[in-house]
Amino acid sequence: MESDFDRQFMEEALEEARKAFALEEVPVGSVAVREGKVIARAFNQVESLKDASAHAELLCLKRAAEVLGRWRLFDVTLYTTLEPCCMCAGALFSFRVQRLVWGAMDIRQGADGSFVSLLSQKHPIHEFPVSRGVLAEPASQLMKTFFQKRRGENAGNGI
Ligand SMILES: [Zn+2]
Repeated sequence: MESDFDRQFMEEALEEARKAFALEEVPVGSVAVREGKVIARAFNQVESLKDASAHAELLCLKRAAEVLGRWRLFDVTLYTTLEPCCMCAGALFSFRVQRLVWGAMDIRQGADGSFVSLLSQKHPIHEFPVSRGVLAEPASQLMKTFFQKRRGENAGNGI
């Protein structure tokens, strides 16, 4: 199922994750691709928007729907640097995506096998293929660096 373009689009998602990193947001990035073109991109903005639902995946799906003028994203593949959480996995069903490609595992909150396995269940309305672990290494390295840096800063502040 994995295509030659997967790494290329995941690179673009990583680029989004790096933008989040630069803004001291948890570094997760996503791009939405339709007919071989990126139609929407987003990075995690929980801190800047003060919105716990402002995950890269959810923002990206909403932007893709806005661009297309419809909420059914049956011809859209979502690329995201991290295994989606429960909320985003739910949104992927609701938005009826064509396919999902994710990078690094999220052992704490991942909803595709790490914490729970929502995406391998038979869903009553919608099912889509998933490719896992595409460019997992740089995505997970970015997360590790982020949390090491944040722990270091918190230690400095005596928190
Ligand atoms: Zn999420």
